Amino acid sequence: MKNQAKKALQFQYTLNAELMNKYRSKNKGKQALSQIIRGKLMRKYKIITEAVNEFRFTAGRQRQKKGSLSKRLTDRVCSFYERDDISRITPGIKDTVTKNGIKKQRRVMTESIEIIHERFILENTDIKISYPTFCRMRPFWVQPPKDSDRETCACKYHENMQFLVNSLHGLNCLPSKRLQEIVKMFACDINKMDCMYGRCMECKDVILQSETDSTINTEWFQWKTKKETRLINNQEKEVTLTVKEKVNDSIDSLIDTFSSEMQRFKVHTFNITNQFNHYRKMKENLKENEVLIHIDFAENFLCKLSTEIQSMHFGASKQQITLHTGVYYTKGRTQTFCGSFGLPRPQSKCYLGIS
Ligand SMILES: [Zn+2]
Ligand SMILES: [Zn+2]
Repeated sequence: MKNQAKKALQFQYTLNAELMNKYRSKNKGKQALSQIIRGKLMRKYKIITEAVNEFRFTAGRQRQKKGSLSKRLTDRVCSFYERDDISRITPGIKDTVTKNGIKKQRRVMTESIEIIHERFILENTDIKISYPTFCRMRPFWVQPPKDSDRETCACKYHENMQFLVNSLHGLNCLPSKRLQEIVKMFACDINKMDCMYGRCMECKDVILQSETDSTINTEWFQWKTKKETRLINNQEKEVTLTVKEKVNDSIDSLIDTFSSEMQRFKVHTFNITNQFNHYRKMKENLKENEVLIHIDFAENFLCKLSTEIQSMHFGASKQQITLHTGVYYTKGRTQTFCGSFGLPRPQSKCYLGIS
């Protein structure tokens, strides 16, 4: 027993000495050795500090040097991630993310990080940045979309197209549900106006083939605008409604609808991308005496009183306000503002009325 213990101790000391010699004499393999002492078992018995003191290992500790490649790139990559065509800001006032005490409004990426990386490389030919580095540099508030995040511009074209794509995907007629990927299947180049406007001979006609029996009935949703007559204040009035309707028809008919919608959708997508590009260029190249104003509006804010009688909930007793929120950009400066309509007087001092 005594002998065994002596042997074990001897073995351990010799191994230590050998490892130390190896570590001091060679540059190669330093990392491998230091990885060993930071291994799982070492961690389990909490003896890493002892090991580091014993060997005085330094390799393996990574520190970001000042002026290193990633440091210099961070700003550029961050602002790329924050571009409006790369990620969009979430509208909910409480939709924020906090990390290390920094609170930021959440942004949702419009495309997968692979595609964003590809685009970054295409636009910044002077920079070589690997995919993992690019992922690592993503600001924490720019996030991949959750199920609850709408992926589209939430317009009727986008929504209707998404309904059709969902059904076709369910029938195995389309490989993906993502509109951006589907559009690419029906145009040679989504950045070419001729292709997207249906003027290119190669991709003018959208053809989608189905391997299943296309006479079978299926279902899909569509947003439709309808006119309805309603009785308001004892007077018949025609109101326009937008309703979500379930359509029940053959797969053939679904494919036909998809084909004709796709022609329009291509134009719509091209216009959006084009608008974003021009908007960004203008914003980046503002002159000293120029200003760019972007106004959006949030409709139908209801004015509430702290105590309300029941009859206030009926009819037009409630005052409605439309808030006009906006941003103006001047060279090197961004300022937000907000104004309101619907009340007798504008309520905000920084009101800028555009009607
Ligand atoms: Zn749209
Ligand atoms: Zn084409």
